[in-house]
Amino acid sequence: MSNGASGNPATVKPVIRRVDPAVFGFRFTKNCDIRLCKGQCCRTGIIMAPSEAARILAHKEAVMEMMDDTQTRDSSRWFDEPATPERLKQLETEGKEIASAVHNHKCVFLDAIGACALQKLALKEGTHRWAYKPYHCILFPFLVEEGTLSVDLEHGDNIRARYNEEFFCDHRGPNAIARGIDVCREELMYALGSYPAYEALQGSAPEK
Ligand code: SF4
Repeated sequence: MSNGASGNPATVKPVIRRVDPAVFGFRFTKNCDIRLCKGQCCRTGIIMAPSEAARILAHKEAVMEMMDDTQTRDSSRWFDEPATPERLKQLETEGKEIASAVHNHKCVFLDAIGACALQKLALKEGTHRWAYKPYHCILFPFLVEEGTLSVDLEHGDNIRARYNEEFFCDHRGPNAIARGIDVCREELMYALGSYPAYEALQGSAPEK
């Protein structure tokens, strides 16, 4: 599997020791396409490892170039607290994460049409599209908590409550017509580390 991001030490990939059965029954939209939802899942921002924030800030001028006027190019406002090198180091030591800021009712890195500036930068540079993206962003709608691969069923509820709008990818909604483990093949391969591991996951699914 080609994956530039996996070779970047800033990306923290937790070890997966268990798979929540909810993963197999989870239904998702068949075509994850930001032209349909304008990056709705990115509206509340994202938590990330301090090393991932440091990687973004190390490329801040290039990230700024990917932004439009609905975003802020002031990098001191990209996180929900001052992301100084000292603070990031402290968070790393404490095993804590840092959140991207919400600006104009969306993640500070999300542009007006729903595209992520971090992904746009990677594509412009010709590297893997996830080279600058935080792990949690890559894996959504799945997540890994305490070694368990599971499904983030709460995120849509948070969006709905915060913005009073329906969540396009709602697992209970009309767009949830495909198996998440089929739609998110590349994301799950990334999380599990290999195609054989993904095949094993597919093989252990109780239903097609
Ligand atoms: S960093 Fe990018 S992918 Fe992650 S929530 Fe923000 S805009 Fe979305």
